[in-house]
Amino acid sequence: MDITIIAESRSGELHPVTRQLVGAATTLEANTTVLCPGGVGADEAATILGVGKVLSVTGDCFSSYDGGAWSEALDAAAGSGVLIGAATSKGRDICSRIAARRGIPVIQDVTALSPGLNVTHPIYSGKAMQDLSVSGDCVLTLRANTFPPAGDGGSADTATVQQSGDVRIAVQEAIAKASERIDVADADIIISGGRGMGDPANFSHLNAIADQIGAAVGASRAAVDTWEEIPHSMQVGQTGKTVNPSLYIAVGISGAIQHLAGMRTSKYIVAINKDPEAPIFKIADYGIVSTWEEALPILAEELGKLS
Ligand SMILES: Cc1cc2nc3c(=O)[nH]c(=O)nc-3n(C[C@H](O)[C@H](O)[C@H](O)COP(=O)(O)OP(=O)(O)OC[C@H]3O[C@@H](n4cnc5c(N)ncnc54)[C@H](O)[C@@H]3O)c2cc1C
Repeated sequence: MDITIIAESRSGELHPVTRQLVGAATTLEANTTVLCPGGVGADEAATILGVGKVLSVTGDCFSSYDGGAWSEALDAAAGSGVLIGAATSKGRDICSRIAARRGIPVIQDVTALSPGLNVTHPIYSGKAMQDLSVSGDCVLTLRANTFPPAGDGGSADTATVQQSGDVRIAVQEAIAKASERIDVADADIIISGGRGMGDPANFSHLNAIADQIGAAVGASRAAVDTWEEIPHSMQVGQTGKTVNPSLYIAVGISGAIQHLAGMRTSKYIVAINKDPEAPIFKIADYGIVSTWEEALPILAEELGKLS
């Protein structure tokens, strides 16, 4: 089987999720080629164990992001077989466009993958998981932090192809994220606040705990929609980010189905809510029925004793 992985990059470097894509492909015992859009991260990709070949795809279109142009260029550069990308906003965009160009199926947000191309992915906003067996060429996006990353030790051949696409969107201005905090999509621990935090200033209590335990701070859509101080980049859920951390702490979040869609596969879920009937408690491993005003200082104190 031939697998082509579309490398994910961030700030001019290979994003760690790329190693997870290679790790997943390795379990399929396939010939694995990694495509690096714009050549970003090609040198590192060549050192990842399990990578057979690295292709730097260089072209004018890679100077800024345009899904149509990138997918046109990557489609031309990639061979046939199975294409794998990350289930990030960019990865989903590119992969669905390539699948449409090729007229082959795309399966988004895969959480399990095994030989024979048996895949599992969520449907109905995560209310159910679907097992599929795929025959023939297809495109998959894999959920971040779900597959073990491949290690170092590879020495893949590298080549460069000059390939661009038709850019139809001109980026006028890119506004950098104000926060230096780790992104929820990359975090292994997340503490999220909802409308129950009462005021955006109260997110400082979540930030303080996040600093203690190296967590990212997330939010519900109600928090993001209500307070402009809480940016959309923090939103977890169906119309926000899908996360898969080892620990997810939900504070003042009711647990609406659209929020659960983005975080229900977290390994451990802790919920702090003053309402014992809040739906979040149905999926929480540990539930604390309390106001956050009472619970967070105790949590902070206990965490302080551990350090
Ligand atoms: C198409 C669509 C897409 C959506 N996408 C998303 C999405 O991506 N992400 C998302 O989160 N939502 C999404 N929503 C919105 C979702 O339906 C809910 O409205 C939202 O998740 C509720 O946010 P919340 O739990 O913060 O607020 P609320 O539902 O208002 O809950 C606040 C909770 O805080 C508790 N509380 C109040 N005060 C305290 C206190 N002092 N201490 C402790 N607990 C307290 C309350 O008991 C309550 O349970 C979407 C909705 C639609 C229709």
